[in-house]
Amino acid sequence: MARRVKEEKYIMPDLEHRFEAPFRQIHMDFHTHGLIQGVGTQFDPEEFAATLEKAHVNSVTCFARCHHGWMYYDSKLFPERVHPHLANRNLLKEQIEACHRHGIRVPVYTSVQWDMETVREHPEWRVITADGRLAGTPPYEPGFYRHLCYNTPYRDWFKSHVREVLETLPVDGMFYDIVVPRDCSCSYCKGEMERRGLDPSDEDVRLAFARESMKNFVEDISQFTWAIRPGISIYYNSAGTGIHFRDHVSSLSHIEFDALPSTDPEGYMNFPLMARYHRNTGLDCVGQTGKFHRWWGDFHSYKNQAALEYDCFQLLAQGCKVMIGDQLPPSGKIDAEVYRLVITRQDRCTTR
Ligand SMILES: [Zn+2]
Repeated sequence: MARRVKEEKYIMPDLEHRFEAPFRQIHMDFHTHGLIQGVGTQFDPEEFAATLEKAHVNSVTCFARCHHGWMYYDSKLFPERVHPHLANRNLLKEQIEACHRHGIRVPVYTSVQWDMETVREHPEWRVITADGRLAGTPPYEPGFYRHLCYNTPYRDWFKSHVREVLETLPVDGMFYDIVVPRDCSCSYCKGEMERRGLDPSDEDVRLAFARESMKNFVEDISQFTWAIRPGISIYYNSAGTGIHFRDHVSSLSHIEFDALPSTDPEGYMNFPLMARYHRNTGLDCVGQTGKFHRWWGDFHSYKNQAALEYDCFQLLAQGCKVMIGDQLPPSGKIDAEVYRLVITRQDRCTTR
């Protein structure tokens, strides 16, 4: 007998915050370790914005706070979290103002679940595995992949940081990075499941709770953001692709999926799948590729012409807008070679 598959009727959510994304975007990574000296010493706001404008970039995502936990604006709430070697405490503000003078919008990046400094100060806010370990990168291994749980008081800390960014900087949007449903047995998650009469020792229960927690977090942060700055763009990265993604699309202004096609293991096979899935949500889609030969943080490599063109053409053919990932060097001096590539490659396939 044929197995009957239960069909769920999908009701298109109300997409009242839908945003028409620009075609030619840059995501300007700036994860900068606290031991690096002279951060931003060669930043020239006019050179920064003019280089982008010359490459016909119409949106660039710049950094408020990175995975190391450092901030790149003059925070009064968390002065100890401004990068210790940041030469210009108004780096982000000057990036935004210069870009605005050149007609370029600037959504701002902050990290949600990875933040080395917060992890160091508040280990009690970390995700705990079912066997009682701190989830993520072990203490003596490199990497900042140590997961924070937003069901802890970390959420209040995070909101204070976001409020300060929104109230003190003329941002055009927020890009919230690393928001993933995580199987967590911290005292806050475990306590909440028990209060609801759920059994947290059951993995399925914990995973369902994790998905619901992520949906609640996304809705909460979007309402919080739009209450302060109505109408700005919002996206949460890493929420993944799958049927549960649709649960929170009404809390997004658009989709900005991180496919980076030349990477392994996701690679070129994952890229069109993500594009085809996401474009059916009814939201405008932006796909990220990168100037990197392989992976984010691959500072000094450049993707070859054929590969970059292939990525851009693929995105456009799938009905998506194009975003190219770059990494601003710690000095703050924009890499002119990247924008020579962006001019020659993107011009062939996109229009303003
Ligand atoms: Zn938790």
